Amino acid sequence: VEKSNKKISGEVIKRLPRYYRYLGDLKKSGLTKISSTELSRRMNVTPSQIRQDLNCFGGFGQQGYGYNIENLYNSIGKILGLDSTVDTVIIGAGNLGSALANYKGFESRGFKLIGIFDTSSEKIGTIIADCEVLPLQDLEDFCKKNMPKIAMITVPKGAASEVAEYAAKCGIKGFLNFTYTDVTVPEGVAVENMHISDHLMMLSYKTQNM
Ligand code: ATP
Repeated sequence: VEKSNKKISGEVIKRLPRYYRYLGDLKKSGLTKISSTELSRRMNVTPSQIRQDLNCFGGFGQQGYGYNIENLYNSIGKILGLDSTVDTVIIGAGNLGSALANYKGFESRGFKLIGIFDTSSEKIGTIIADCEVLPLQDLEDFCKKNMPKIAMITVPKGAASEVAEYAAKCGIKGFLNFTYTDVTVPEGVAVENMHISDHLMMLSYKTQNM
């Protein structure tokens, strides 16, 4: 599989994590192969969508055989950059930052927490999930030494843009933004927004009309 993602559309990339998750579960269950029809039934998408998506990175399906689960899982993992550990930091050691730090699920998927940063003297020096909270101003040196790729931002909304800008300068390439605001980052840096409150509001809307 080509490492370059250039030819894969953003829409397909968006669907890859879900394929990766289903294939991971199938692999765990001991299955070795699956047809696109069966995979589509389980994932509730059309077989043609699956074939189209997976053909984007080089026809893994064989007529009459289906997909080799392990190969497909590994290939998608490689495209997603999960074939090696992705070092991650958390900026903002408040309640949400601490909860994320203590959550073990990210590490089992290859995202390793290697640092937590804060500006408050009350937080700096404390230990969260085996990580010492470091002063934010140390992020630059930390990045030079450890080159983390991703930062989860869990600071108050007013600090979000400033923090993202600084962290991008330090070399962070991707942000998972949990703050209640949209952050803009320089070109060559990616952001995924996790506006949990937005989802709660949508649920509030839906449940009131049920
Ligand atoms: P706390 O645990 O202090 O009650 P909280 O979970 O209510 O925090 P916030 O007030 O949103 O959350 O703050 C989250 C964390 O972000 C706090 O630990 C705060 O010290 C930290 N913080 C605030 N501003 C910055 C900043 N500019 N850079 C890094 N961390 C910051």
